[in-house]
Amino acid sequence: MQQITNHLPTAELQALDAAHHMHPFSTQSDLAKVGARVITSASGVRLKDSEGQEILDAMAGLWCVNIGYGREELAQVAARQIRELPYYNTFFQTTHVPAIALSAKLAELAPGDLNHVFYAGSGSEANDTNLRMVRTYWEQMGKPEKSIVISRWNAYHGSSVGSGSLGGMKGIHSQGGLPIPGIEHIDQPHWWAEGGDLSPEEFGLERARQLEAKIDELGEDRVAAFIAEPVQGAGGVIIAPDTYWPEVMRICRERDILFIADEVICGFGRTGNWFGSQTLNLTPDIMTVAKGLSSGYVPIGGSIVSDKVAEVIGATEFNHGYTYSGHPVACAVALENLRILEEEKIVEKVREDTGPYLQEKFATLADHPMVGEAKMIGMMGSIALTPDKSARAPFAADAGTVGYMTRERCFANNLIMRHVYDRMIVSPPLVISKPDIDLLIERAWQSLDEGMKAVK
Ligand code: PLP
Repeated sequence: MQQITNHLPTAELQALDAAHHMHPFSTQSDLAKVGARVITSASGVRLKDSEGQEILDAMAGLWCVNIGYGREELAQVAARQIRELPYYNTFFQTTHVPAIALSAKLAELAPGDLNHVFYAGSGSEANDTNLRMVRTYWEQMGKPEKSIVISRWNAYHGSSVGSGSLGGMKGIHSQGGLPIPGIEHIDQPHWWAEGGDLSPEEFGLERARQLEAKIDELGEDRVAAFIAEPVQGAGGVIIAPDTYWPEVMRICRERDILFIADEVICGFGRTGNWFGSQTLNLTPDIMTVAKGLSSGYVPIGGSIVSDKVAEVIGATEFNHGYTYSGHPVACAVALENLRILEEEKIVEKVREDTGPYLQEKFATLADHPMVGEAKMIGMMGSIALTPDKSARAPFAADAGTVGYMTRERCFANNLIMRHVYDRMIVSPPLVISKPDIDLLIERAWQSLDEGMKAVK
């Protein structure tokens, strides 16, 4: 077989890719026609493709490369760890220093009494863990009938059987027999699209109280937990009205159900604090983490668990775990990533410096004729594309077409933004500089202009 390297012509790489590599969330037959863009290297906030183009990555990969690309320190830590102890498991009463050190660091960073970590290889796996953990908790408490988990439509918690069921994505539920039983969904707090004539404050309360109504309908003694992202990411960066979270927290407390905050996107600085729960004043019993934990350099996820839950789970054998739970190389790299986030005060910069600068510039996109709202928290934001700003109207036919066309224009202009139907998202590396923020906004505006022309 020929050697496949960066030096092959792009078309050849694309043909081999389409022939043998099945892509996530893609129509494979389209890839054979169009060809995937081949990314060959990256540094800071920029990717390079096989044609030598430099692309500004305003999505930090998949919302994960928080410290930016190309940090040599992480490569060195990975190499050192591979030489010293490339693998050992944490089953059956064994452990190793990278897992011990990372767990202690996460316990220090996490709010409240979230002091215990159960590792996974990804966010999906961690949410599968959570589903089993909250049910096991109530079984141990002598209430096995408390097993239903409530989630929200349009939430994203992963795409495994468990986490895809926990999520509320219609596209995922339409394939492969999801959702599994025992999971219920309520509506999302998406005022711009669904708020009608209610004020954001009224709407926030209305959506929060759907949780209470759902608990009443099912019976409190059958509900184990509520799971939610502090800010819905993949659903379109949906930032709830201010009234929403305090009411949800009240309901979880009064109704004796556990609360799982899915921090896979919001964690590790994305919202201007270490965790979105701190930004929004949430008190979770379990937090799901992944992505920014290692800035995406190596796969790792986990559940950070409260004293209350850990004590109950720890009193029995929890028959759960993955070969790569607490993988030493992943833990060592994650720890180094946390060191960089902390020492370079990256979270503080998101809160006090480059974050507010990006928010101010991003807000100007609302002046574009095709943009209905431009909202951002920390360094995650989205704009709503609309044919009629004052009516908060969606584009009539084929929801997502305009977003897709605009995303394609961004891609052509060497800017990566993502679209969810007719919302366009940004979530750049947290180390993005002010000049690069200006460039991001300039390219976004140009792509919106071109997208608008394509609609007409
Ligand atoms: N939870 C949230 C909030 C996510 O955004 C994602 C991925 O985008 C996941 C869970 C799943 O994580 P993974 O893709 O690592 O399985």
